[in-house]
Amino acid sequence: MEYDEMLEKVLKEKKGGKGERFMPPEPDVGQVGQKTVINAEELAKYINRPVVHIAKYLMHELTAPGQVDESGKITIGGRFSRRIVLEKINNYIKEYVICKQDGSPDTQMLKIDNNTVIKCLACGAEYPVGRIK
Ligand SMILES: [Zn+2]
Repeated sequence: MEYDEMLEKVLKEKKGGKGERFMPPEPDVGQVGQKTVINAEELAKYINRPVVHIAKYLMHELTAPGQVDESGKITIGGRFSRRIVLEKINNYIKEYVICKQDGSPDTQMLKIDNNTVIKCLACGAEYPVGRIK
């Protein structure tokens, strides 16, 4: 196979049949004193979820207090490793972003009658997800 042909094939495969590949940006995670700071603004935009919702999930999962500032920076009380935080964020994406029917990341989070519902824009599925206390 000629190089050009190969390149073309690779580019085609990369594009896939369904538009862009889903590759959420990894947020910066750092420890400052006894706190963990996570810069989740870019990620939140990419996955179309509010930073506050991601923060609530992390606080719940890590059983730690936390807050979000206006620039989308999450501060969690306690020192948590980057690996742990990214693992939790991956779980969040699986639970609250990826459609359970067809695996599409193209979903919306809605509030219907006090329930949090995930609606898939690809296959139309709608299902409730647990509320984070
Ligand atoms: Zn779907």
